[in-house]
Amino acid sequence: MQQTDITLSPLAFHPSLHQLVWGTESWEVSAVPGNESIIAAGQLAGRTLSMAVQLWGEQLLGRKGLEQGGGTFPLLTKIIDAKQDLSIQVHPGETLAQRRHHCHGKTEMWFVLDAQPGASLLAGFSKPLPREEYAARVADGSIVQYLARHEVHPGDVFFIPAGRVHAICGGVRLCEIQQSSDITYRLYDYHRLGLDGQPRQLHVEEALDAIDFRVLPDYLTRYTPALGQAVPIVSCPYFNVNLLELDAPLHRSLAARESFVLLSLLDGEGIVTLDASPAAPPTATSQNRSFAVPSGTAATTASGPTFPLRSSLLIPAVQASFVITPVGNRPLRLLETYL
Ligand SMILES: [Zn+2]
Repeated sequence: MQQTDITLSPLAFHPSLHQLVWGTESWEVSAVPGNESIIAAGQLAGRTLSMAVQLWGEQLLGRKGLEQGGGTFPLLTKIIDAKQDLSIQVHPGETLAQRRHHCHGKTEMWFVLDAQPGASLLAGFSKPLPREEYAARVADGSIVQYLARHEVHPGDVFFIPAGRVHAICGGVRLCEIQQSSDITYRLYDYHRLGLDGQPRQLHVEEALDAIDFRVLPDYLTRYTPALGQAVPIVSCPYFNVNLLELDAPLHRSLAARESFVLLSLLDGEGIVTLDASPAAPPTATSQNRSFAVPSGTAATTASGPTFPLRSSLLIPAVQASFVITPVGNRPLRLLETYL
């Protein structure tokens, strides 16, 4: 296959379903070695996301994506469906992960999709845990009593920076967006056995260097939902996430971000139409701004190719000017992520 034969275009992927002891994980977009997303349509159908990154480099990832990922796709997104409680865990930050594992740390965020009545999540400490008591509290599981338990509802957002102890609990389905890293330090696993009949490995000592023991007043991310706009819900050095709830087409001009744009469908149906001349430099008035296009005028503002929005759609950095149009009669809800 000649590189010049392949036209740059937004990429959709086959989700990869993983059965775990506590439920299922669907890896939506991944460049983790051994678990790379497979492209679902177009000229690169059947190839990996990493191959697209090799082919298109900065055109796909943008300058920031190229820098942050060091040549690989820098984010990982999953849909997690927890039937039982997940292990209590923590992820190392950038410095520790580089020193110890020669890879990136992991900061993540959760968007709750469904929650059974009374279902909860654990995130952060609710009262101080003296370091000298840590080992004993982890060994007997009483660390759970030191963690903040949050009863959750659909639409709740939690930002989990590296170092924050956390656990997803049974009865919760959520969308997780995180740095591409598979380094997890498991503190406590409820004395469960894995699918292979063996206790899963714990990393109590390693975790101690990663944990942020501070007690914060609140761990929930607050935002005000707004129909027809991009509502920022997370902004951190590793990614920015907006919630979009649309009942009419919305034009997005993100070319100035110098990043790919990842759209993750939460609910409804929609299509994405590229601007016909995406390479045109953004004007001062359109830079970093989004504006609603009245229903029915989308075709005049974006006349490029159209792509269905099924699960996730990765829009190349050089095509980051586009219109999202809901299809059908219920609002389209999605997360928009860029660096
Ligand atoms: Zn985690």
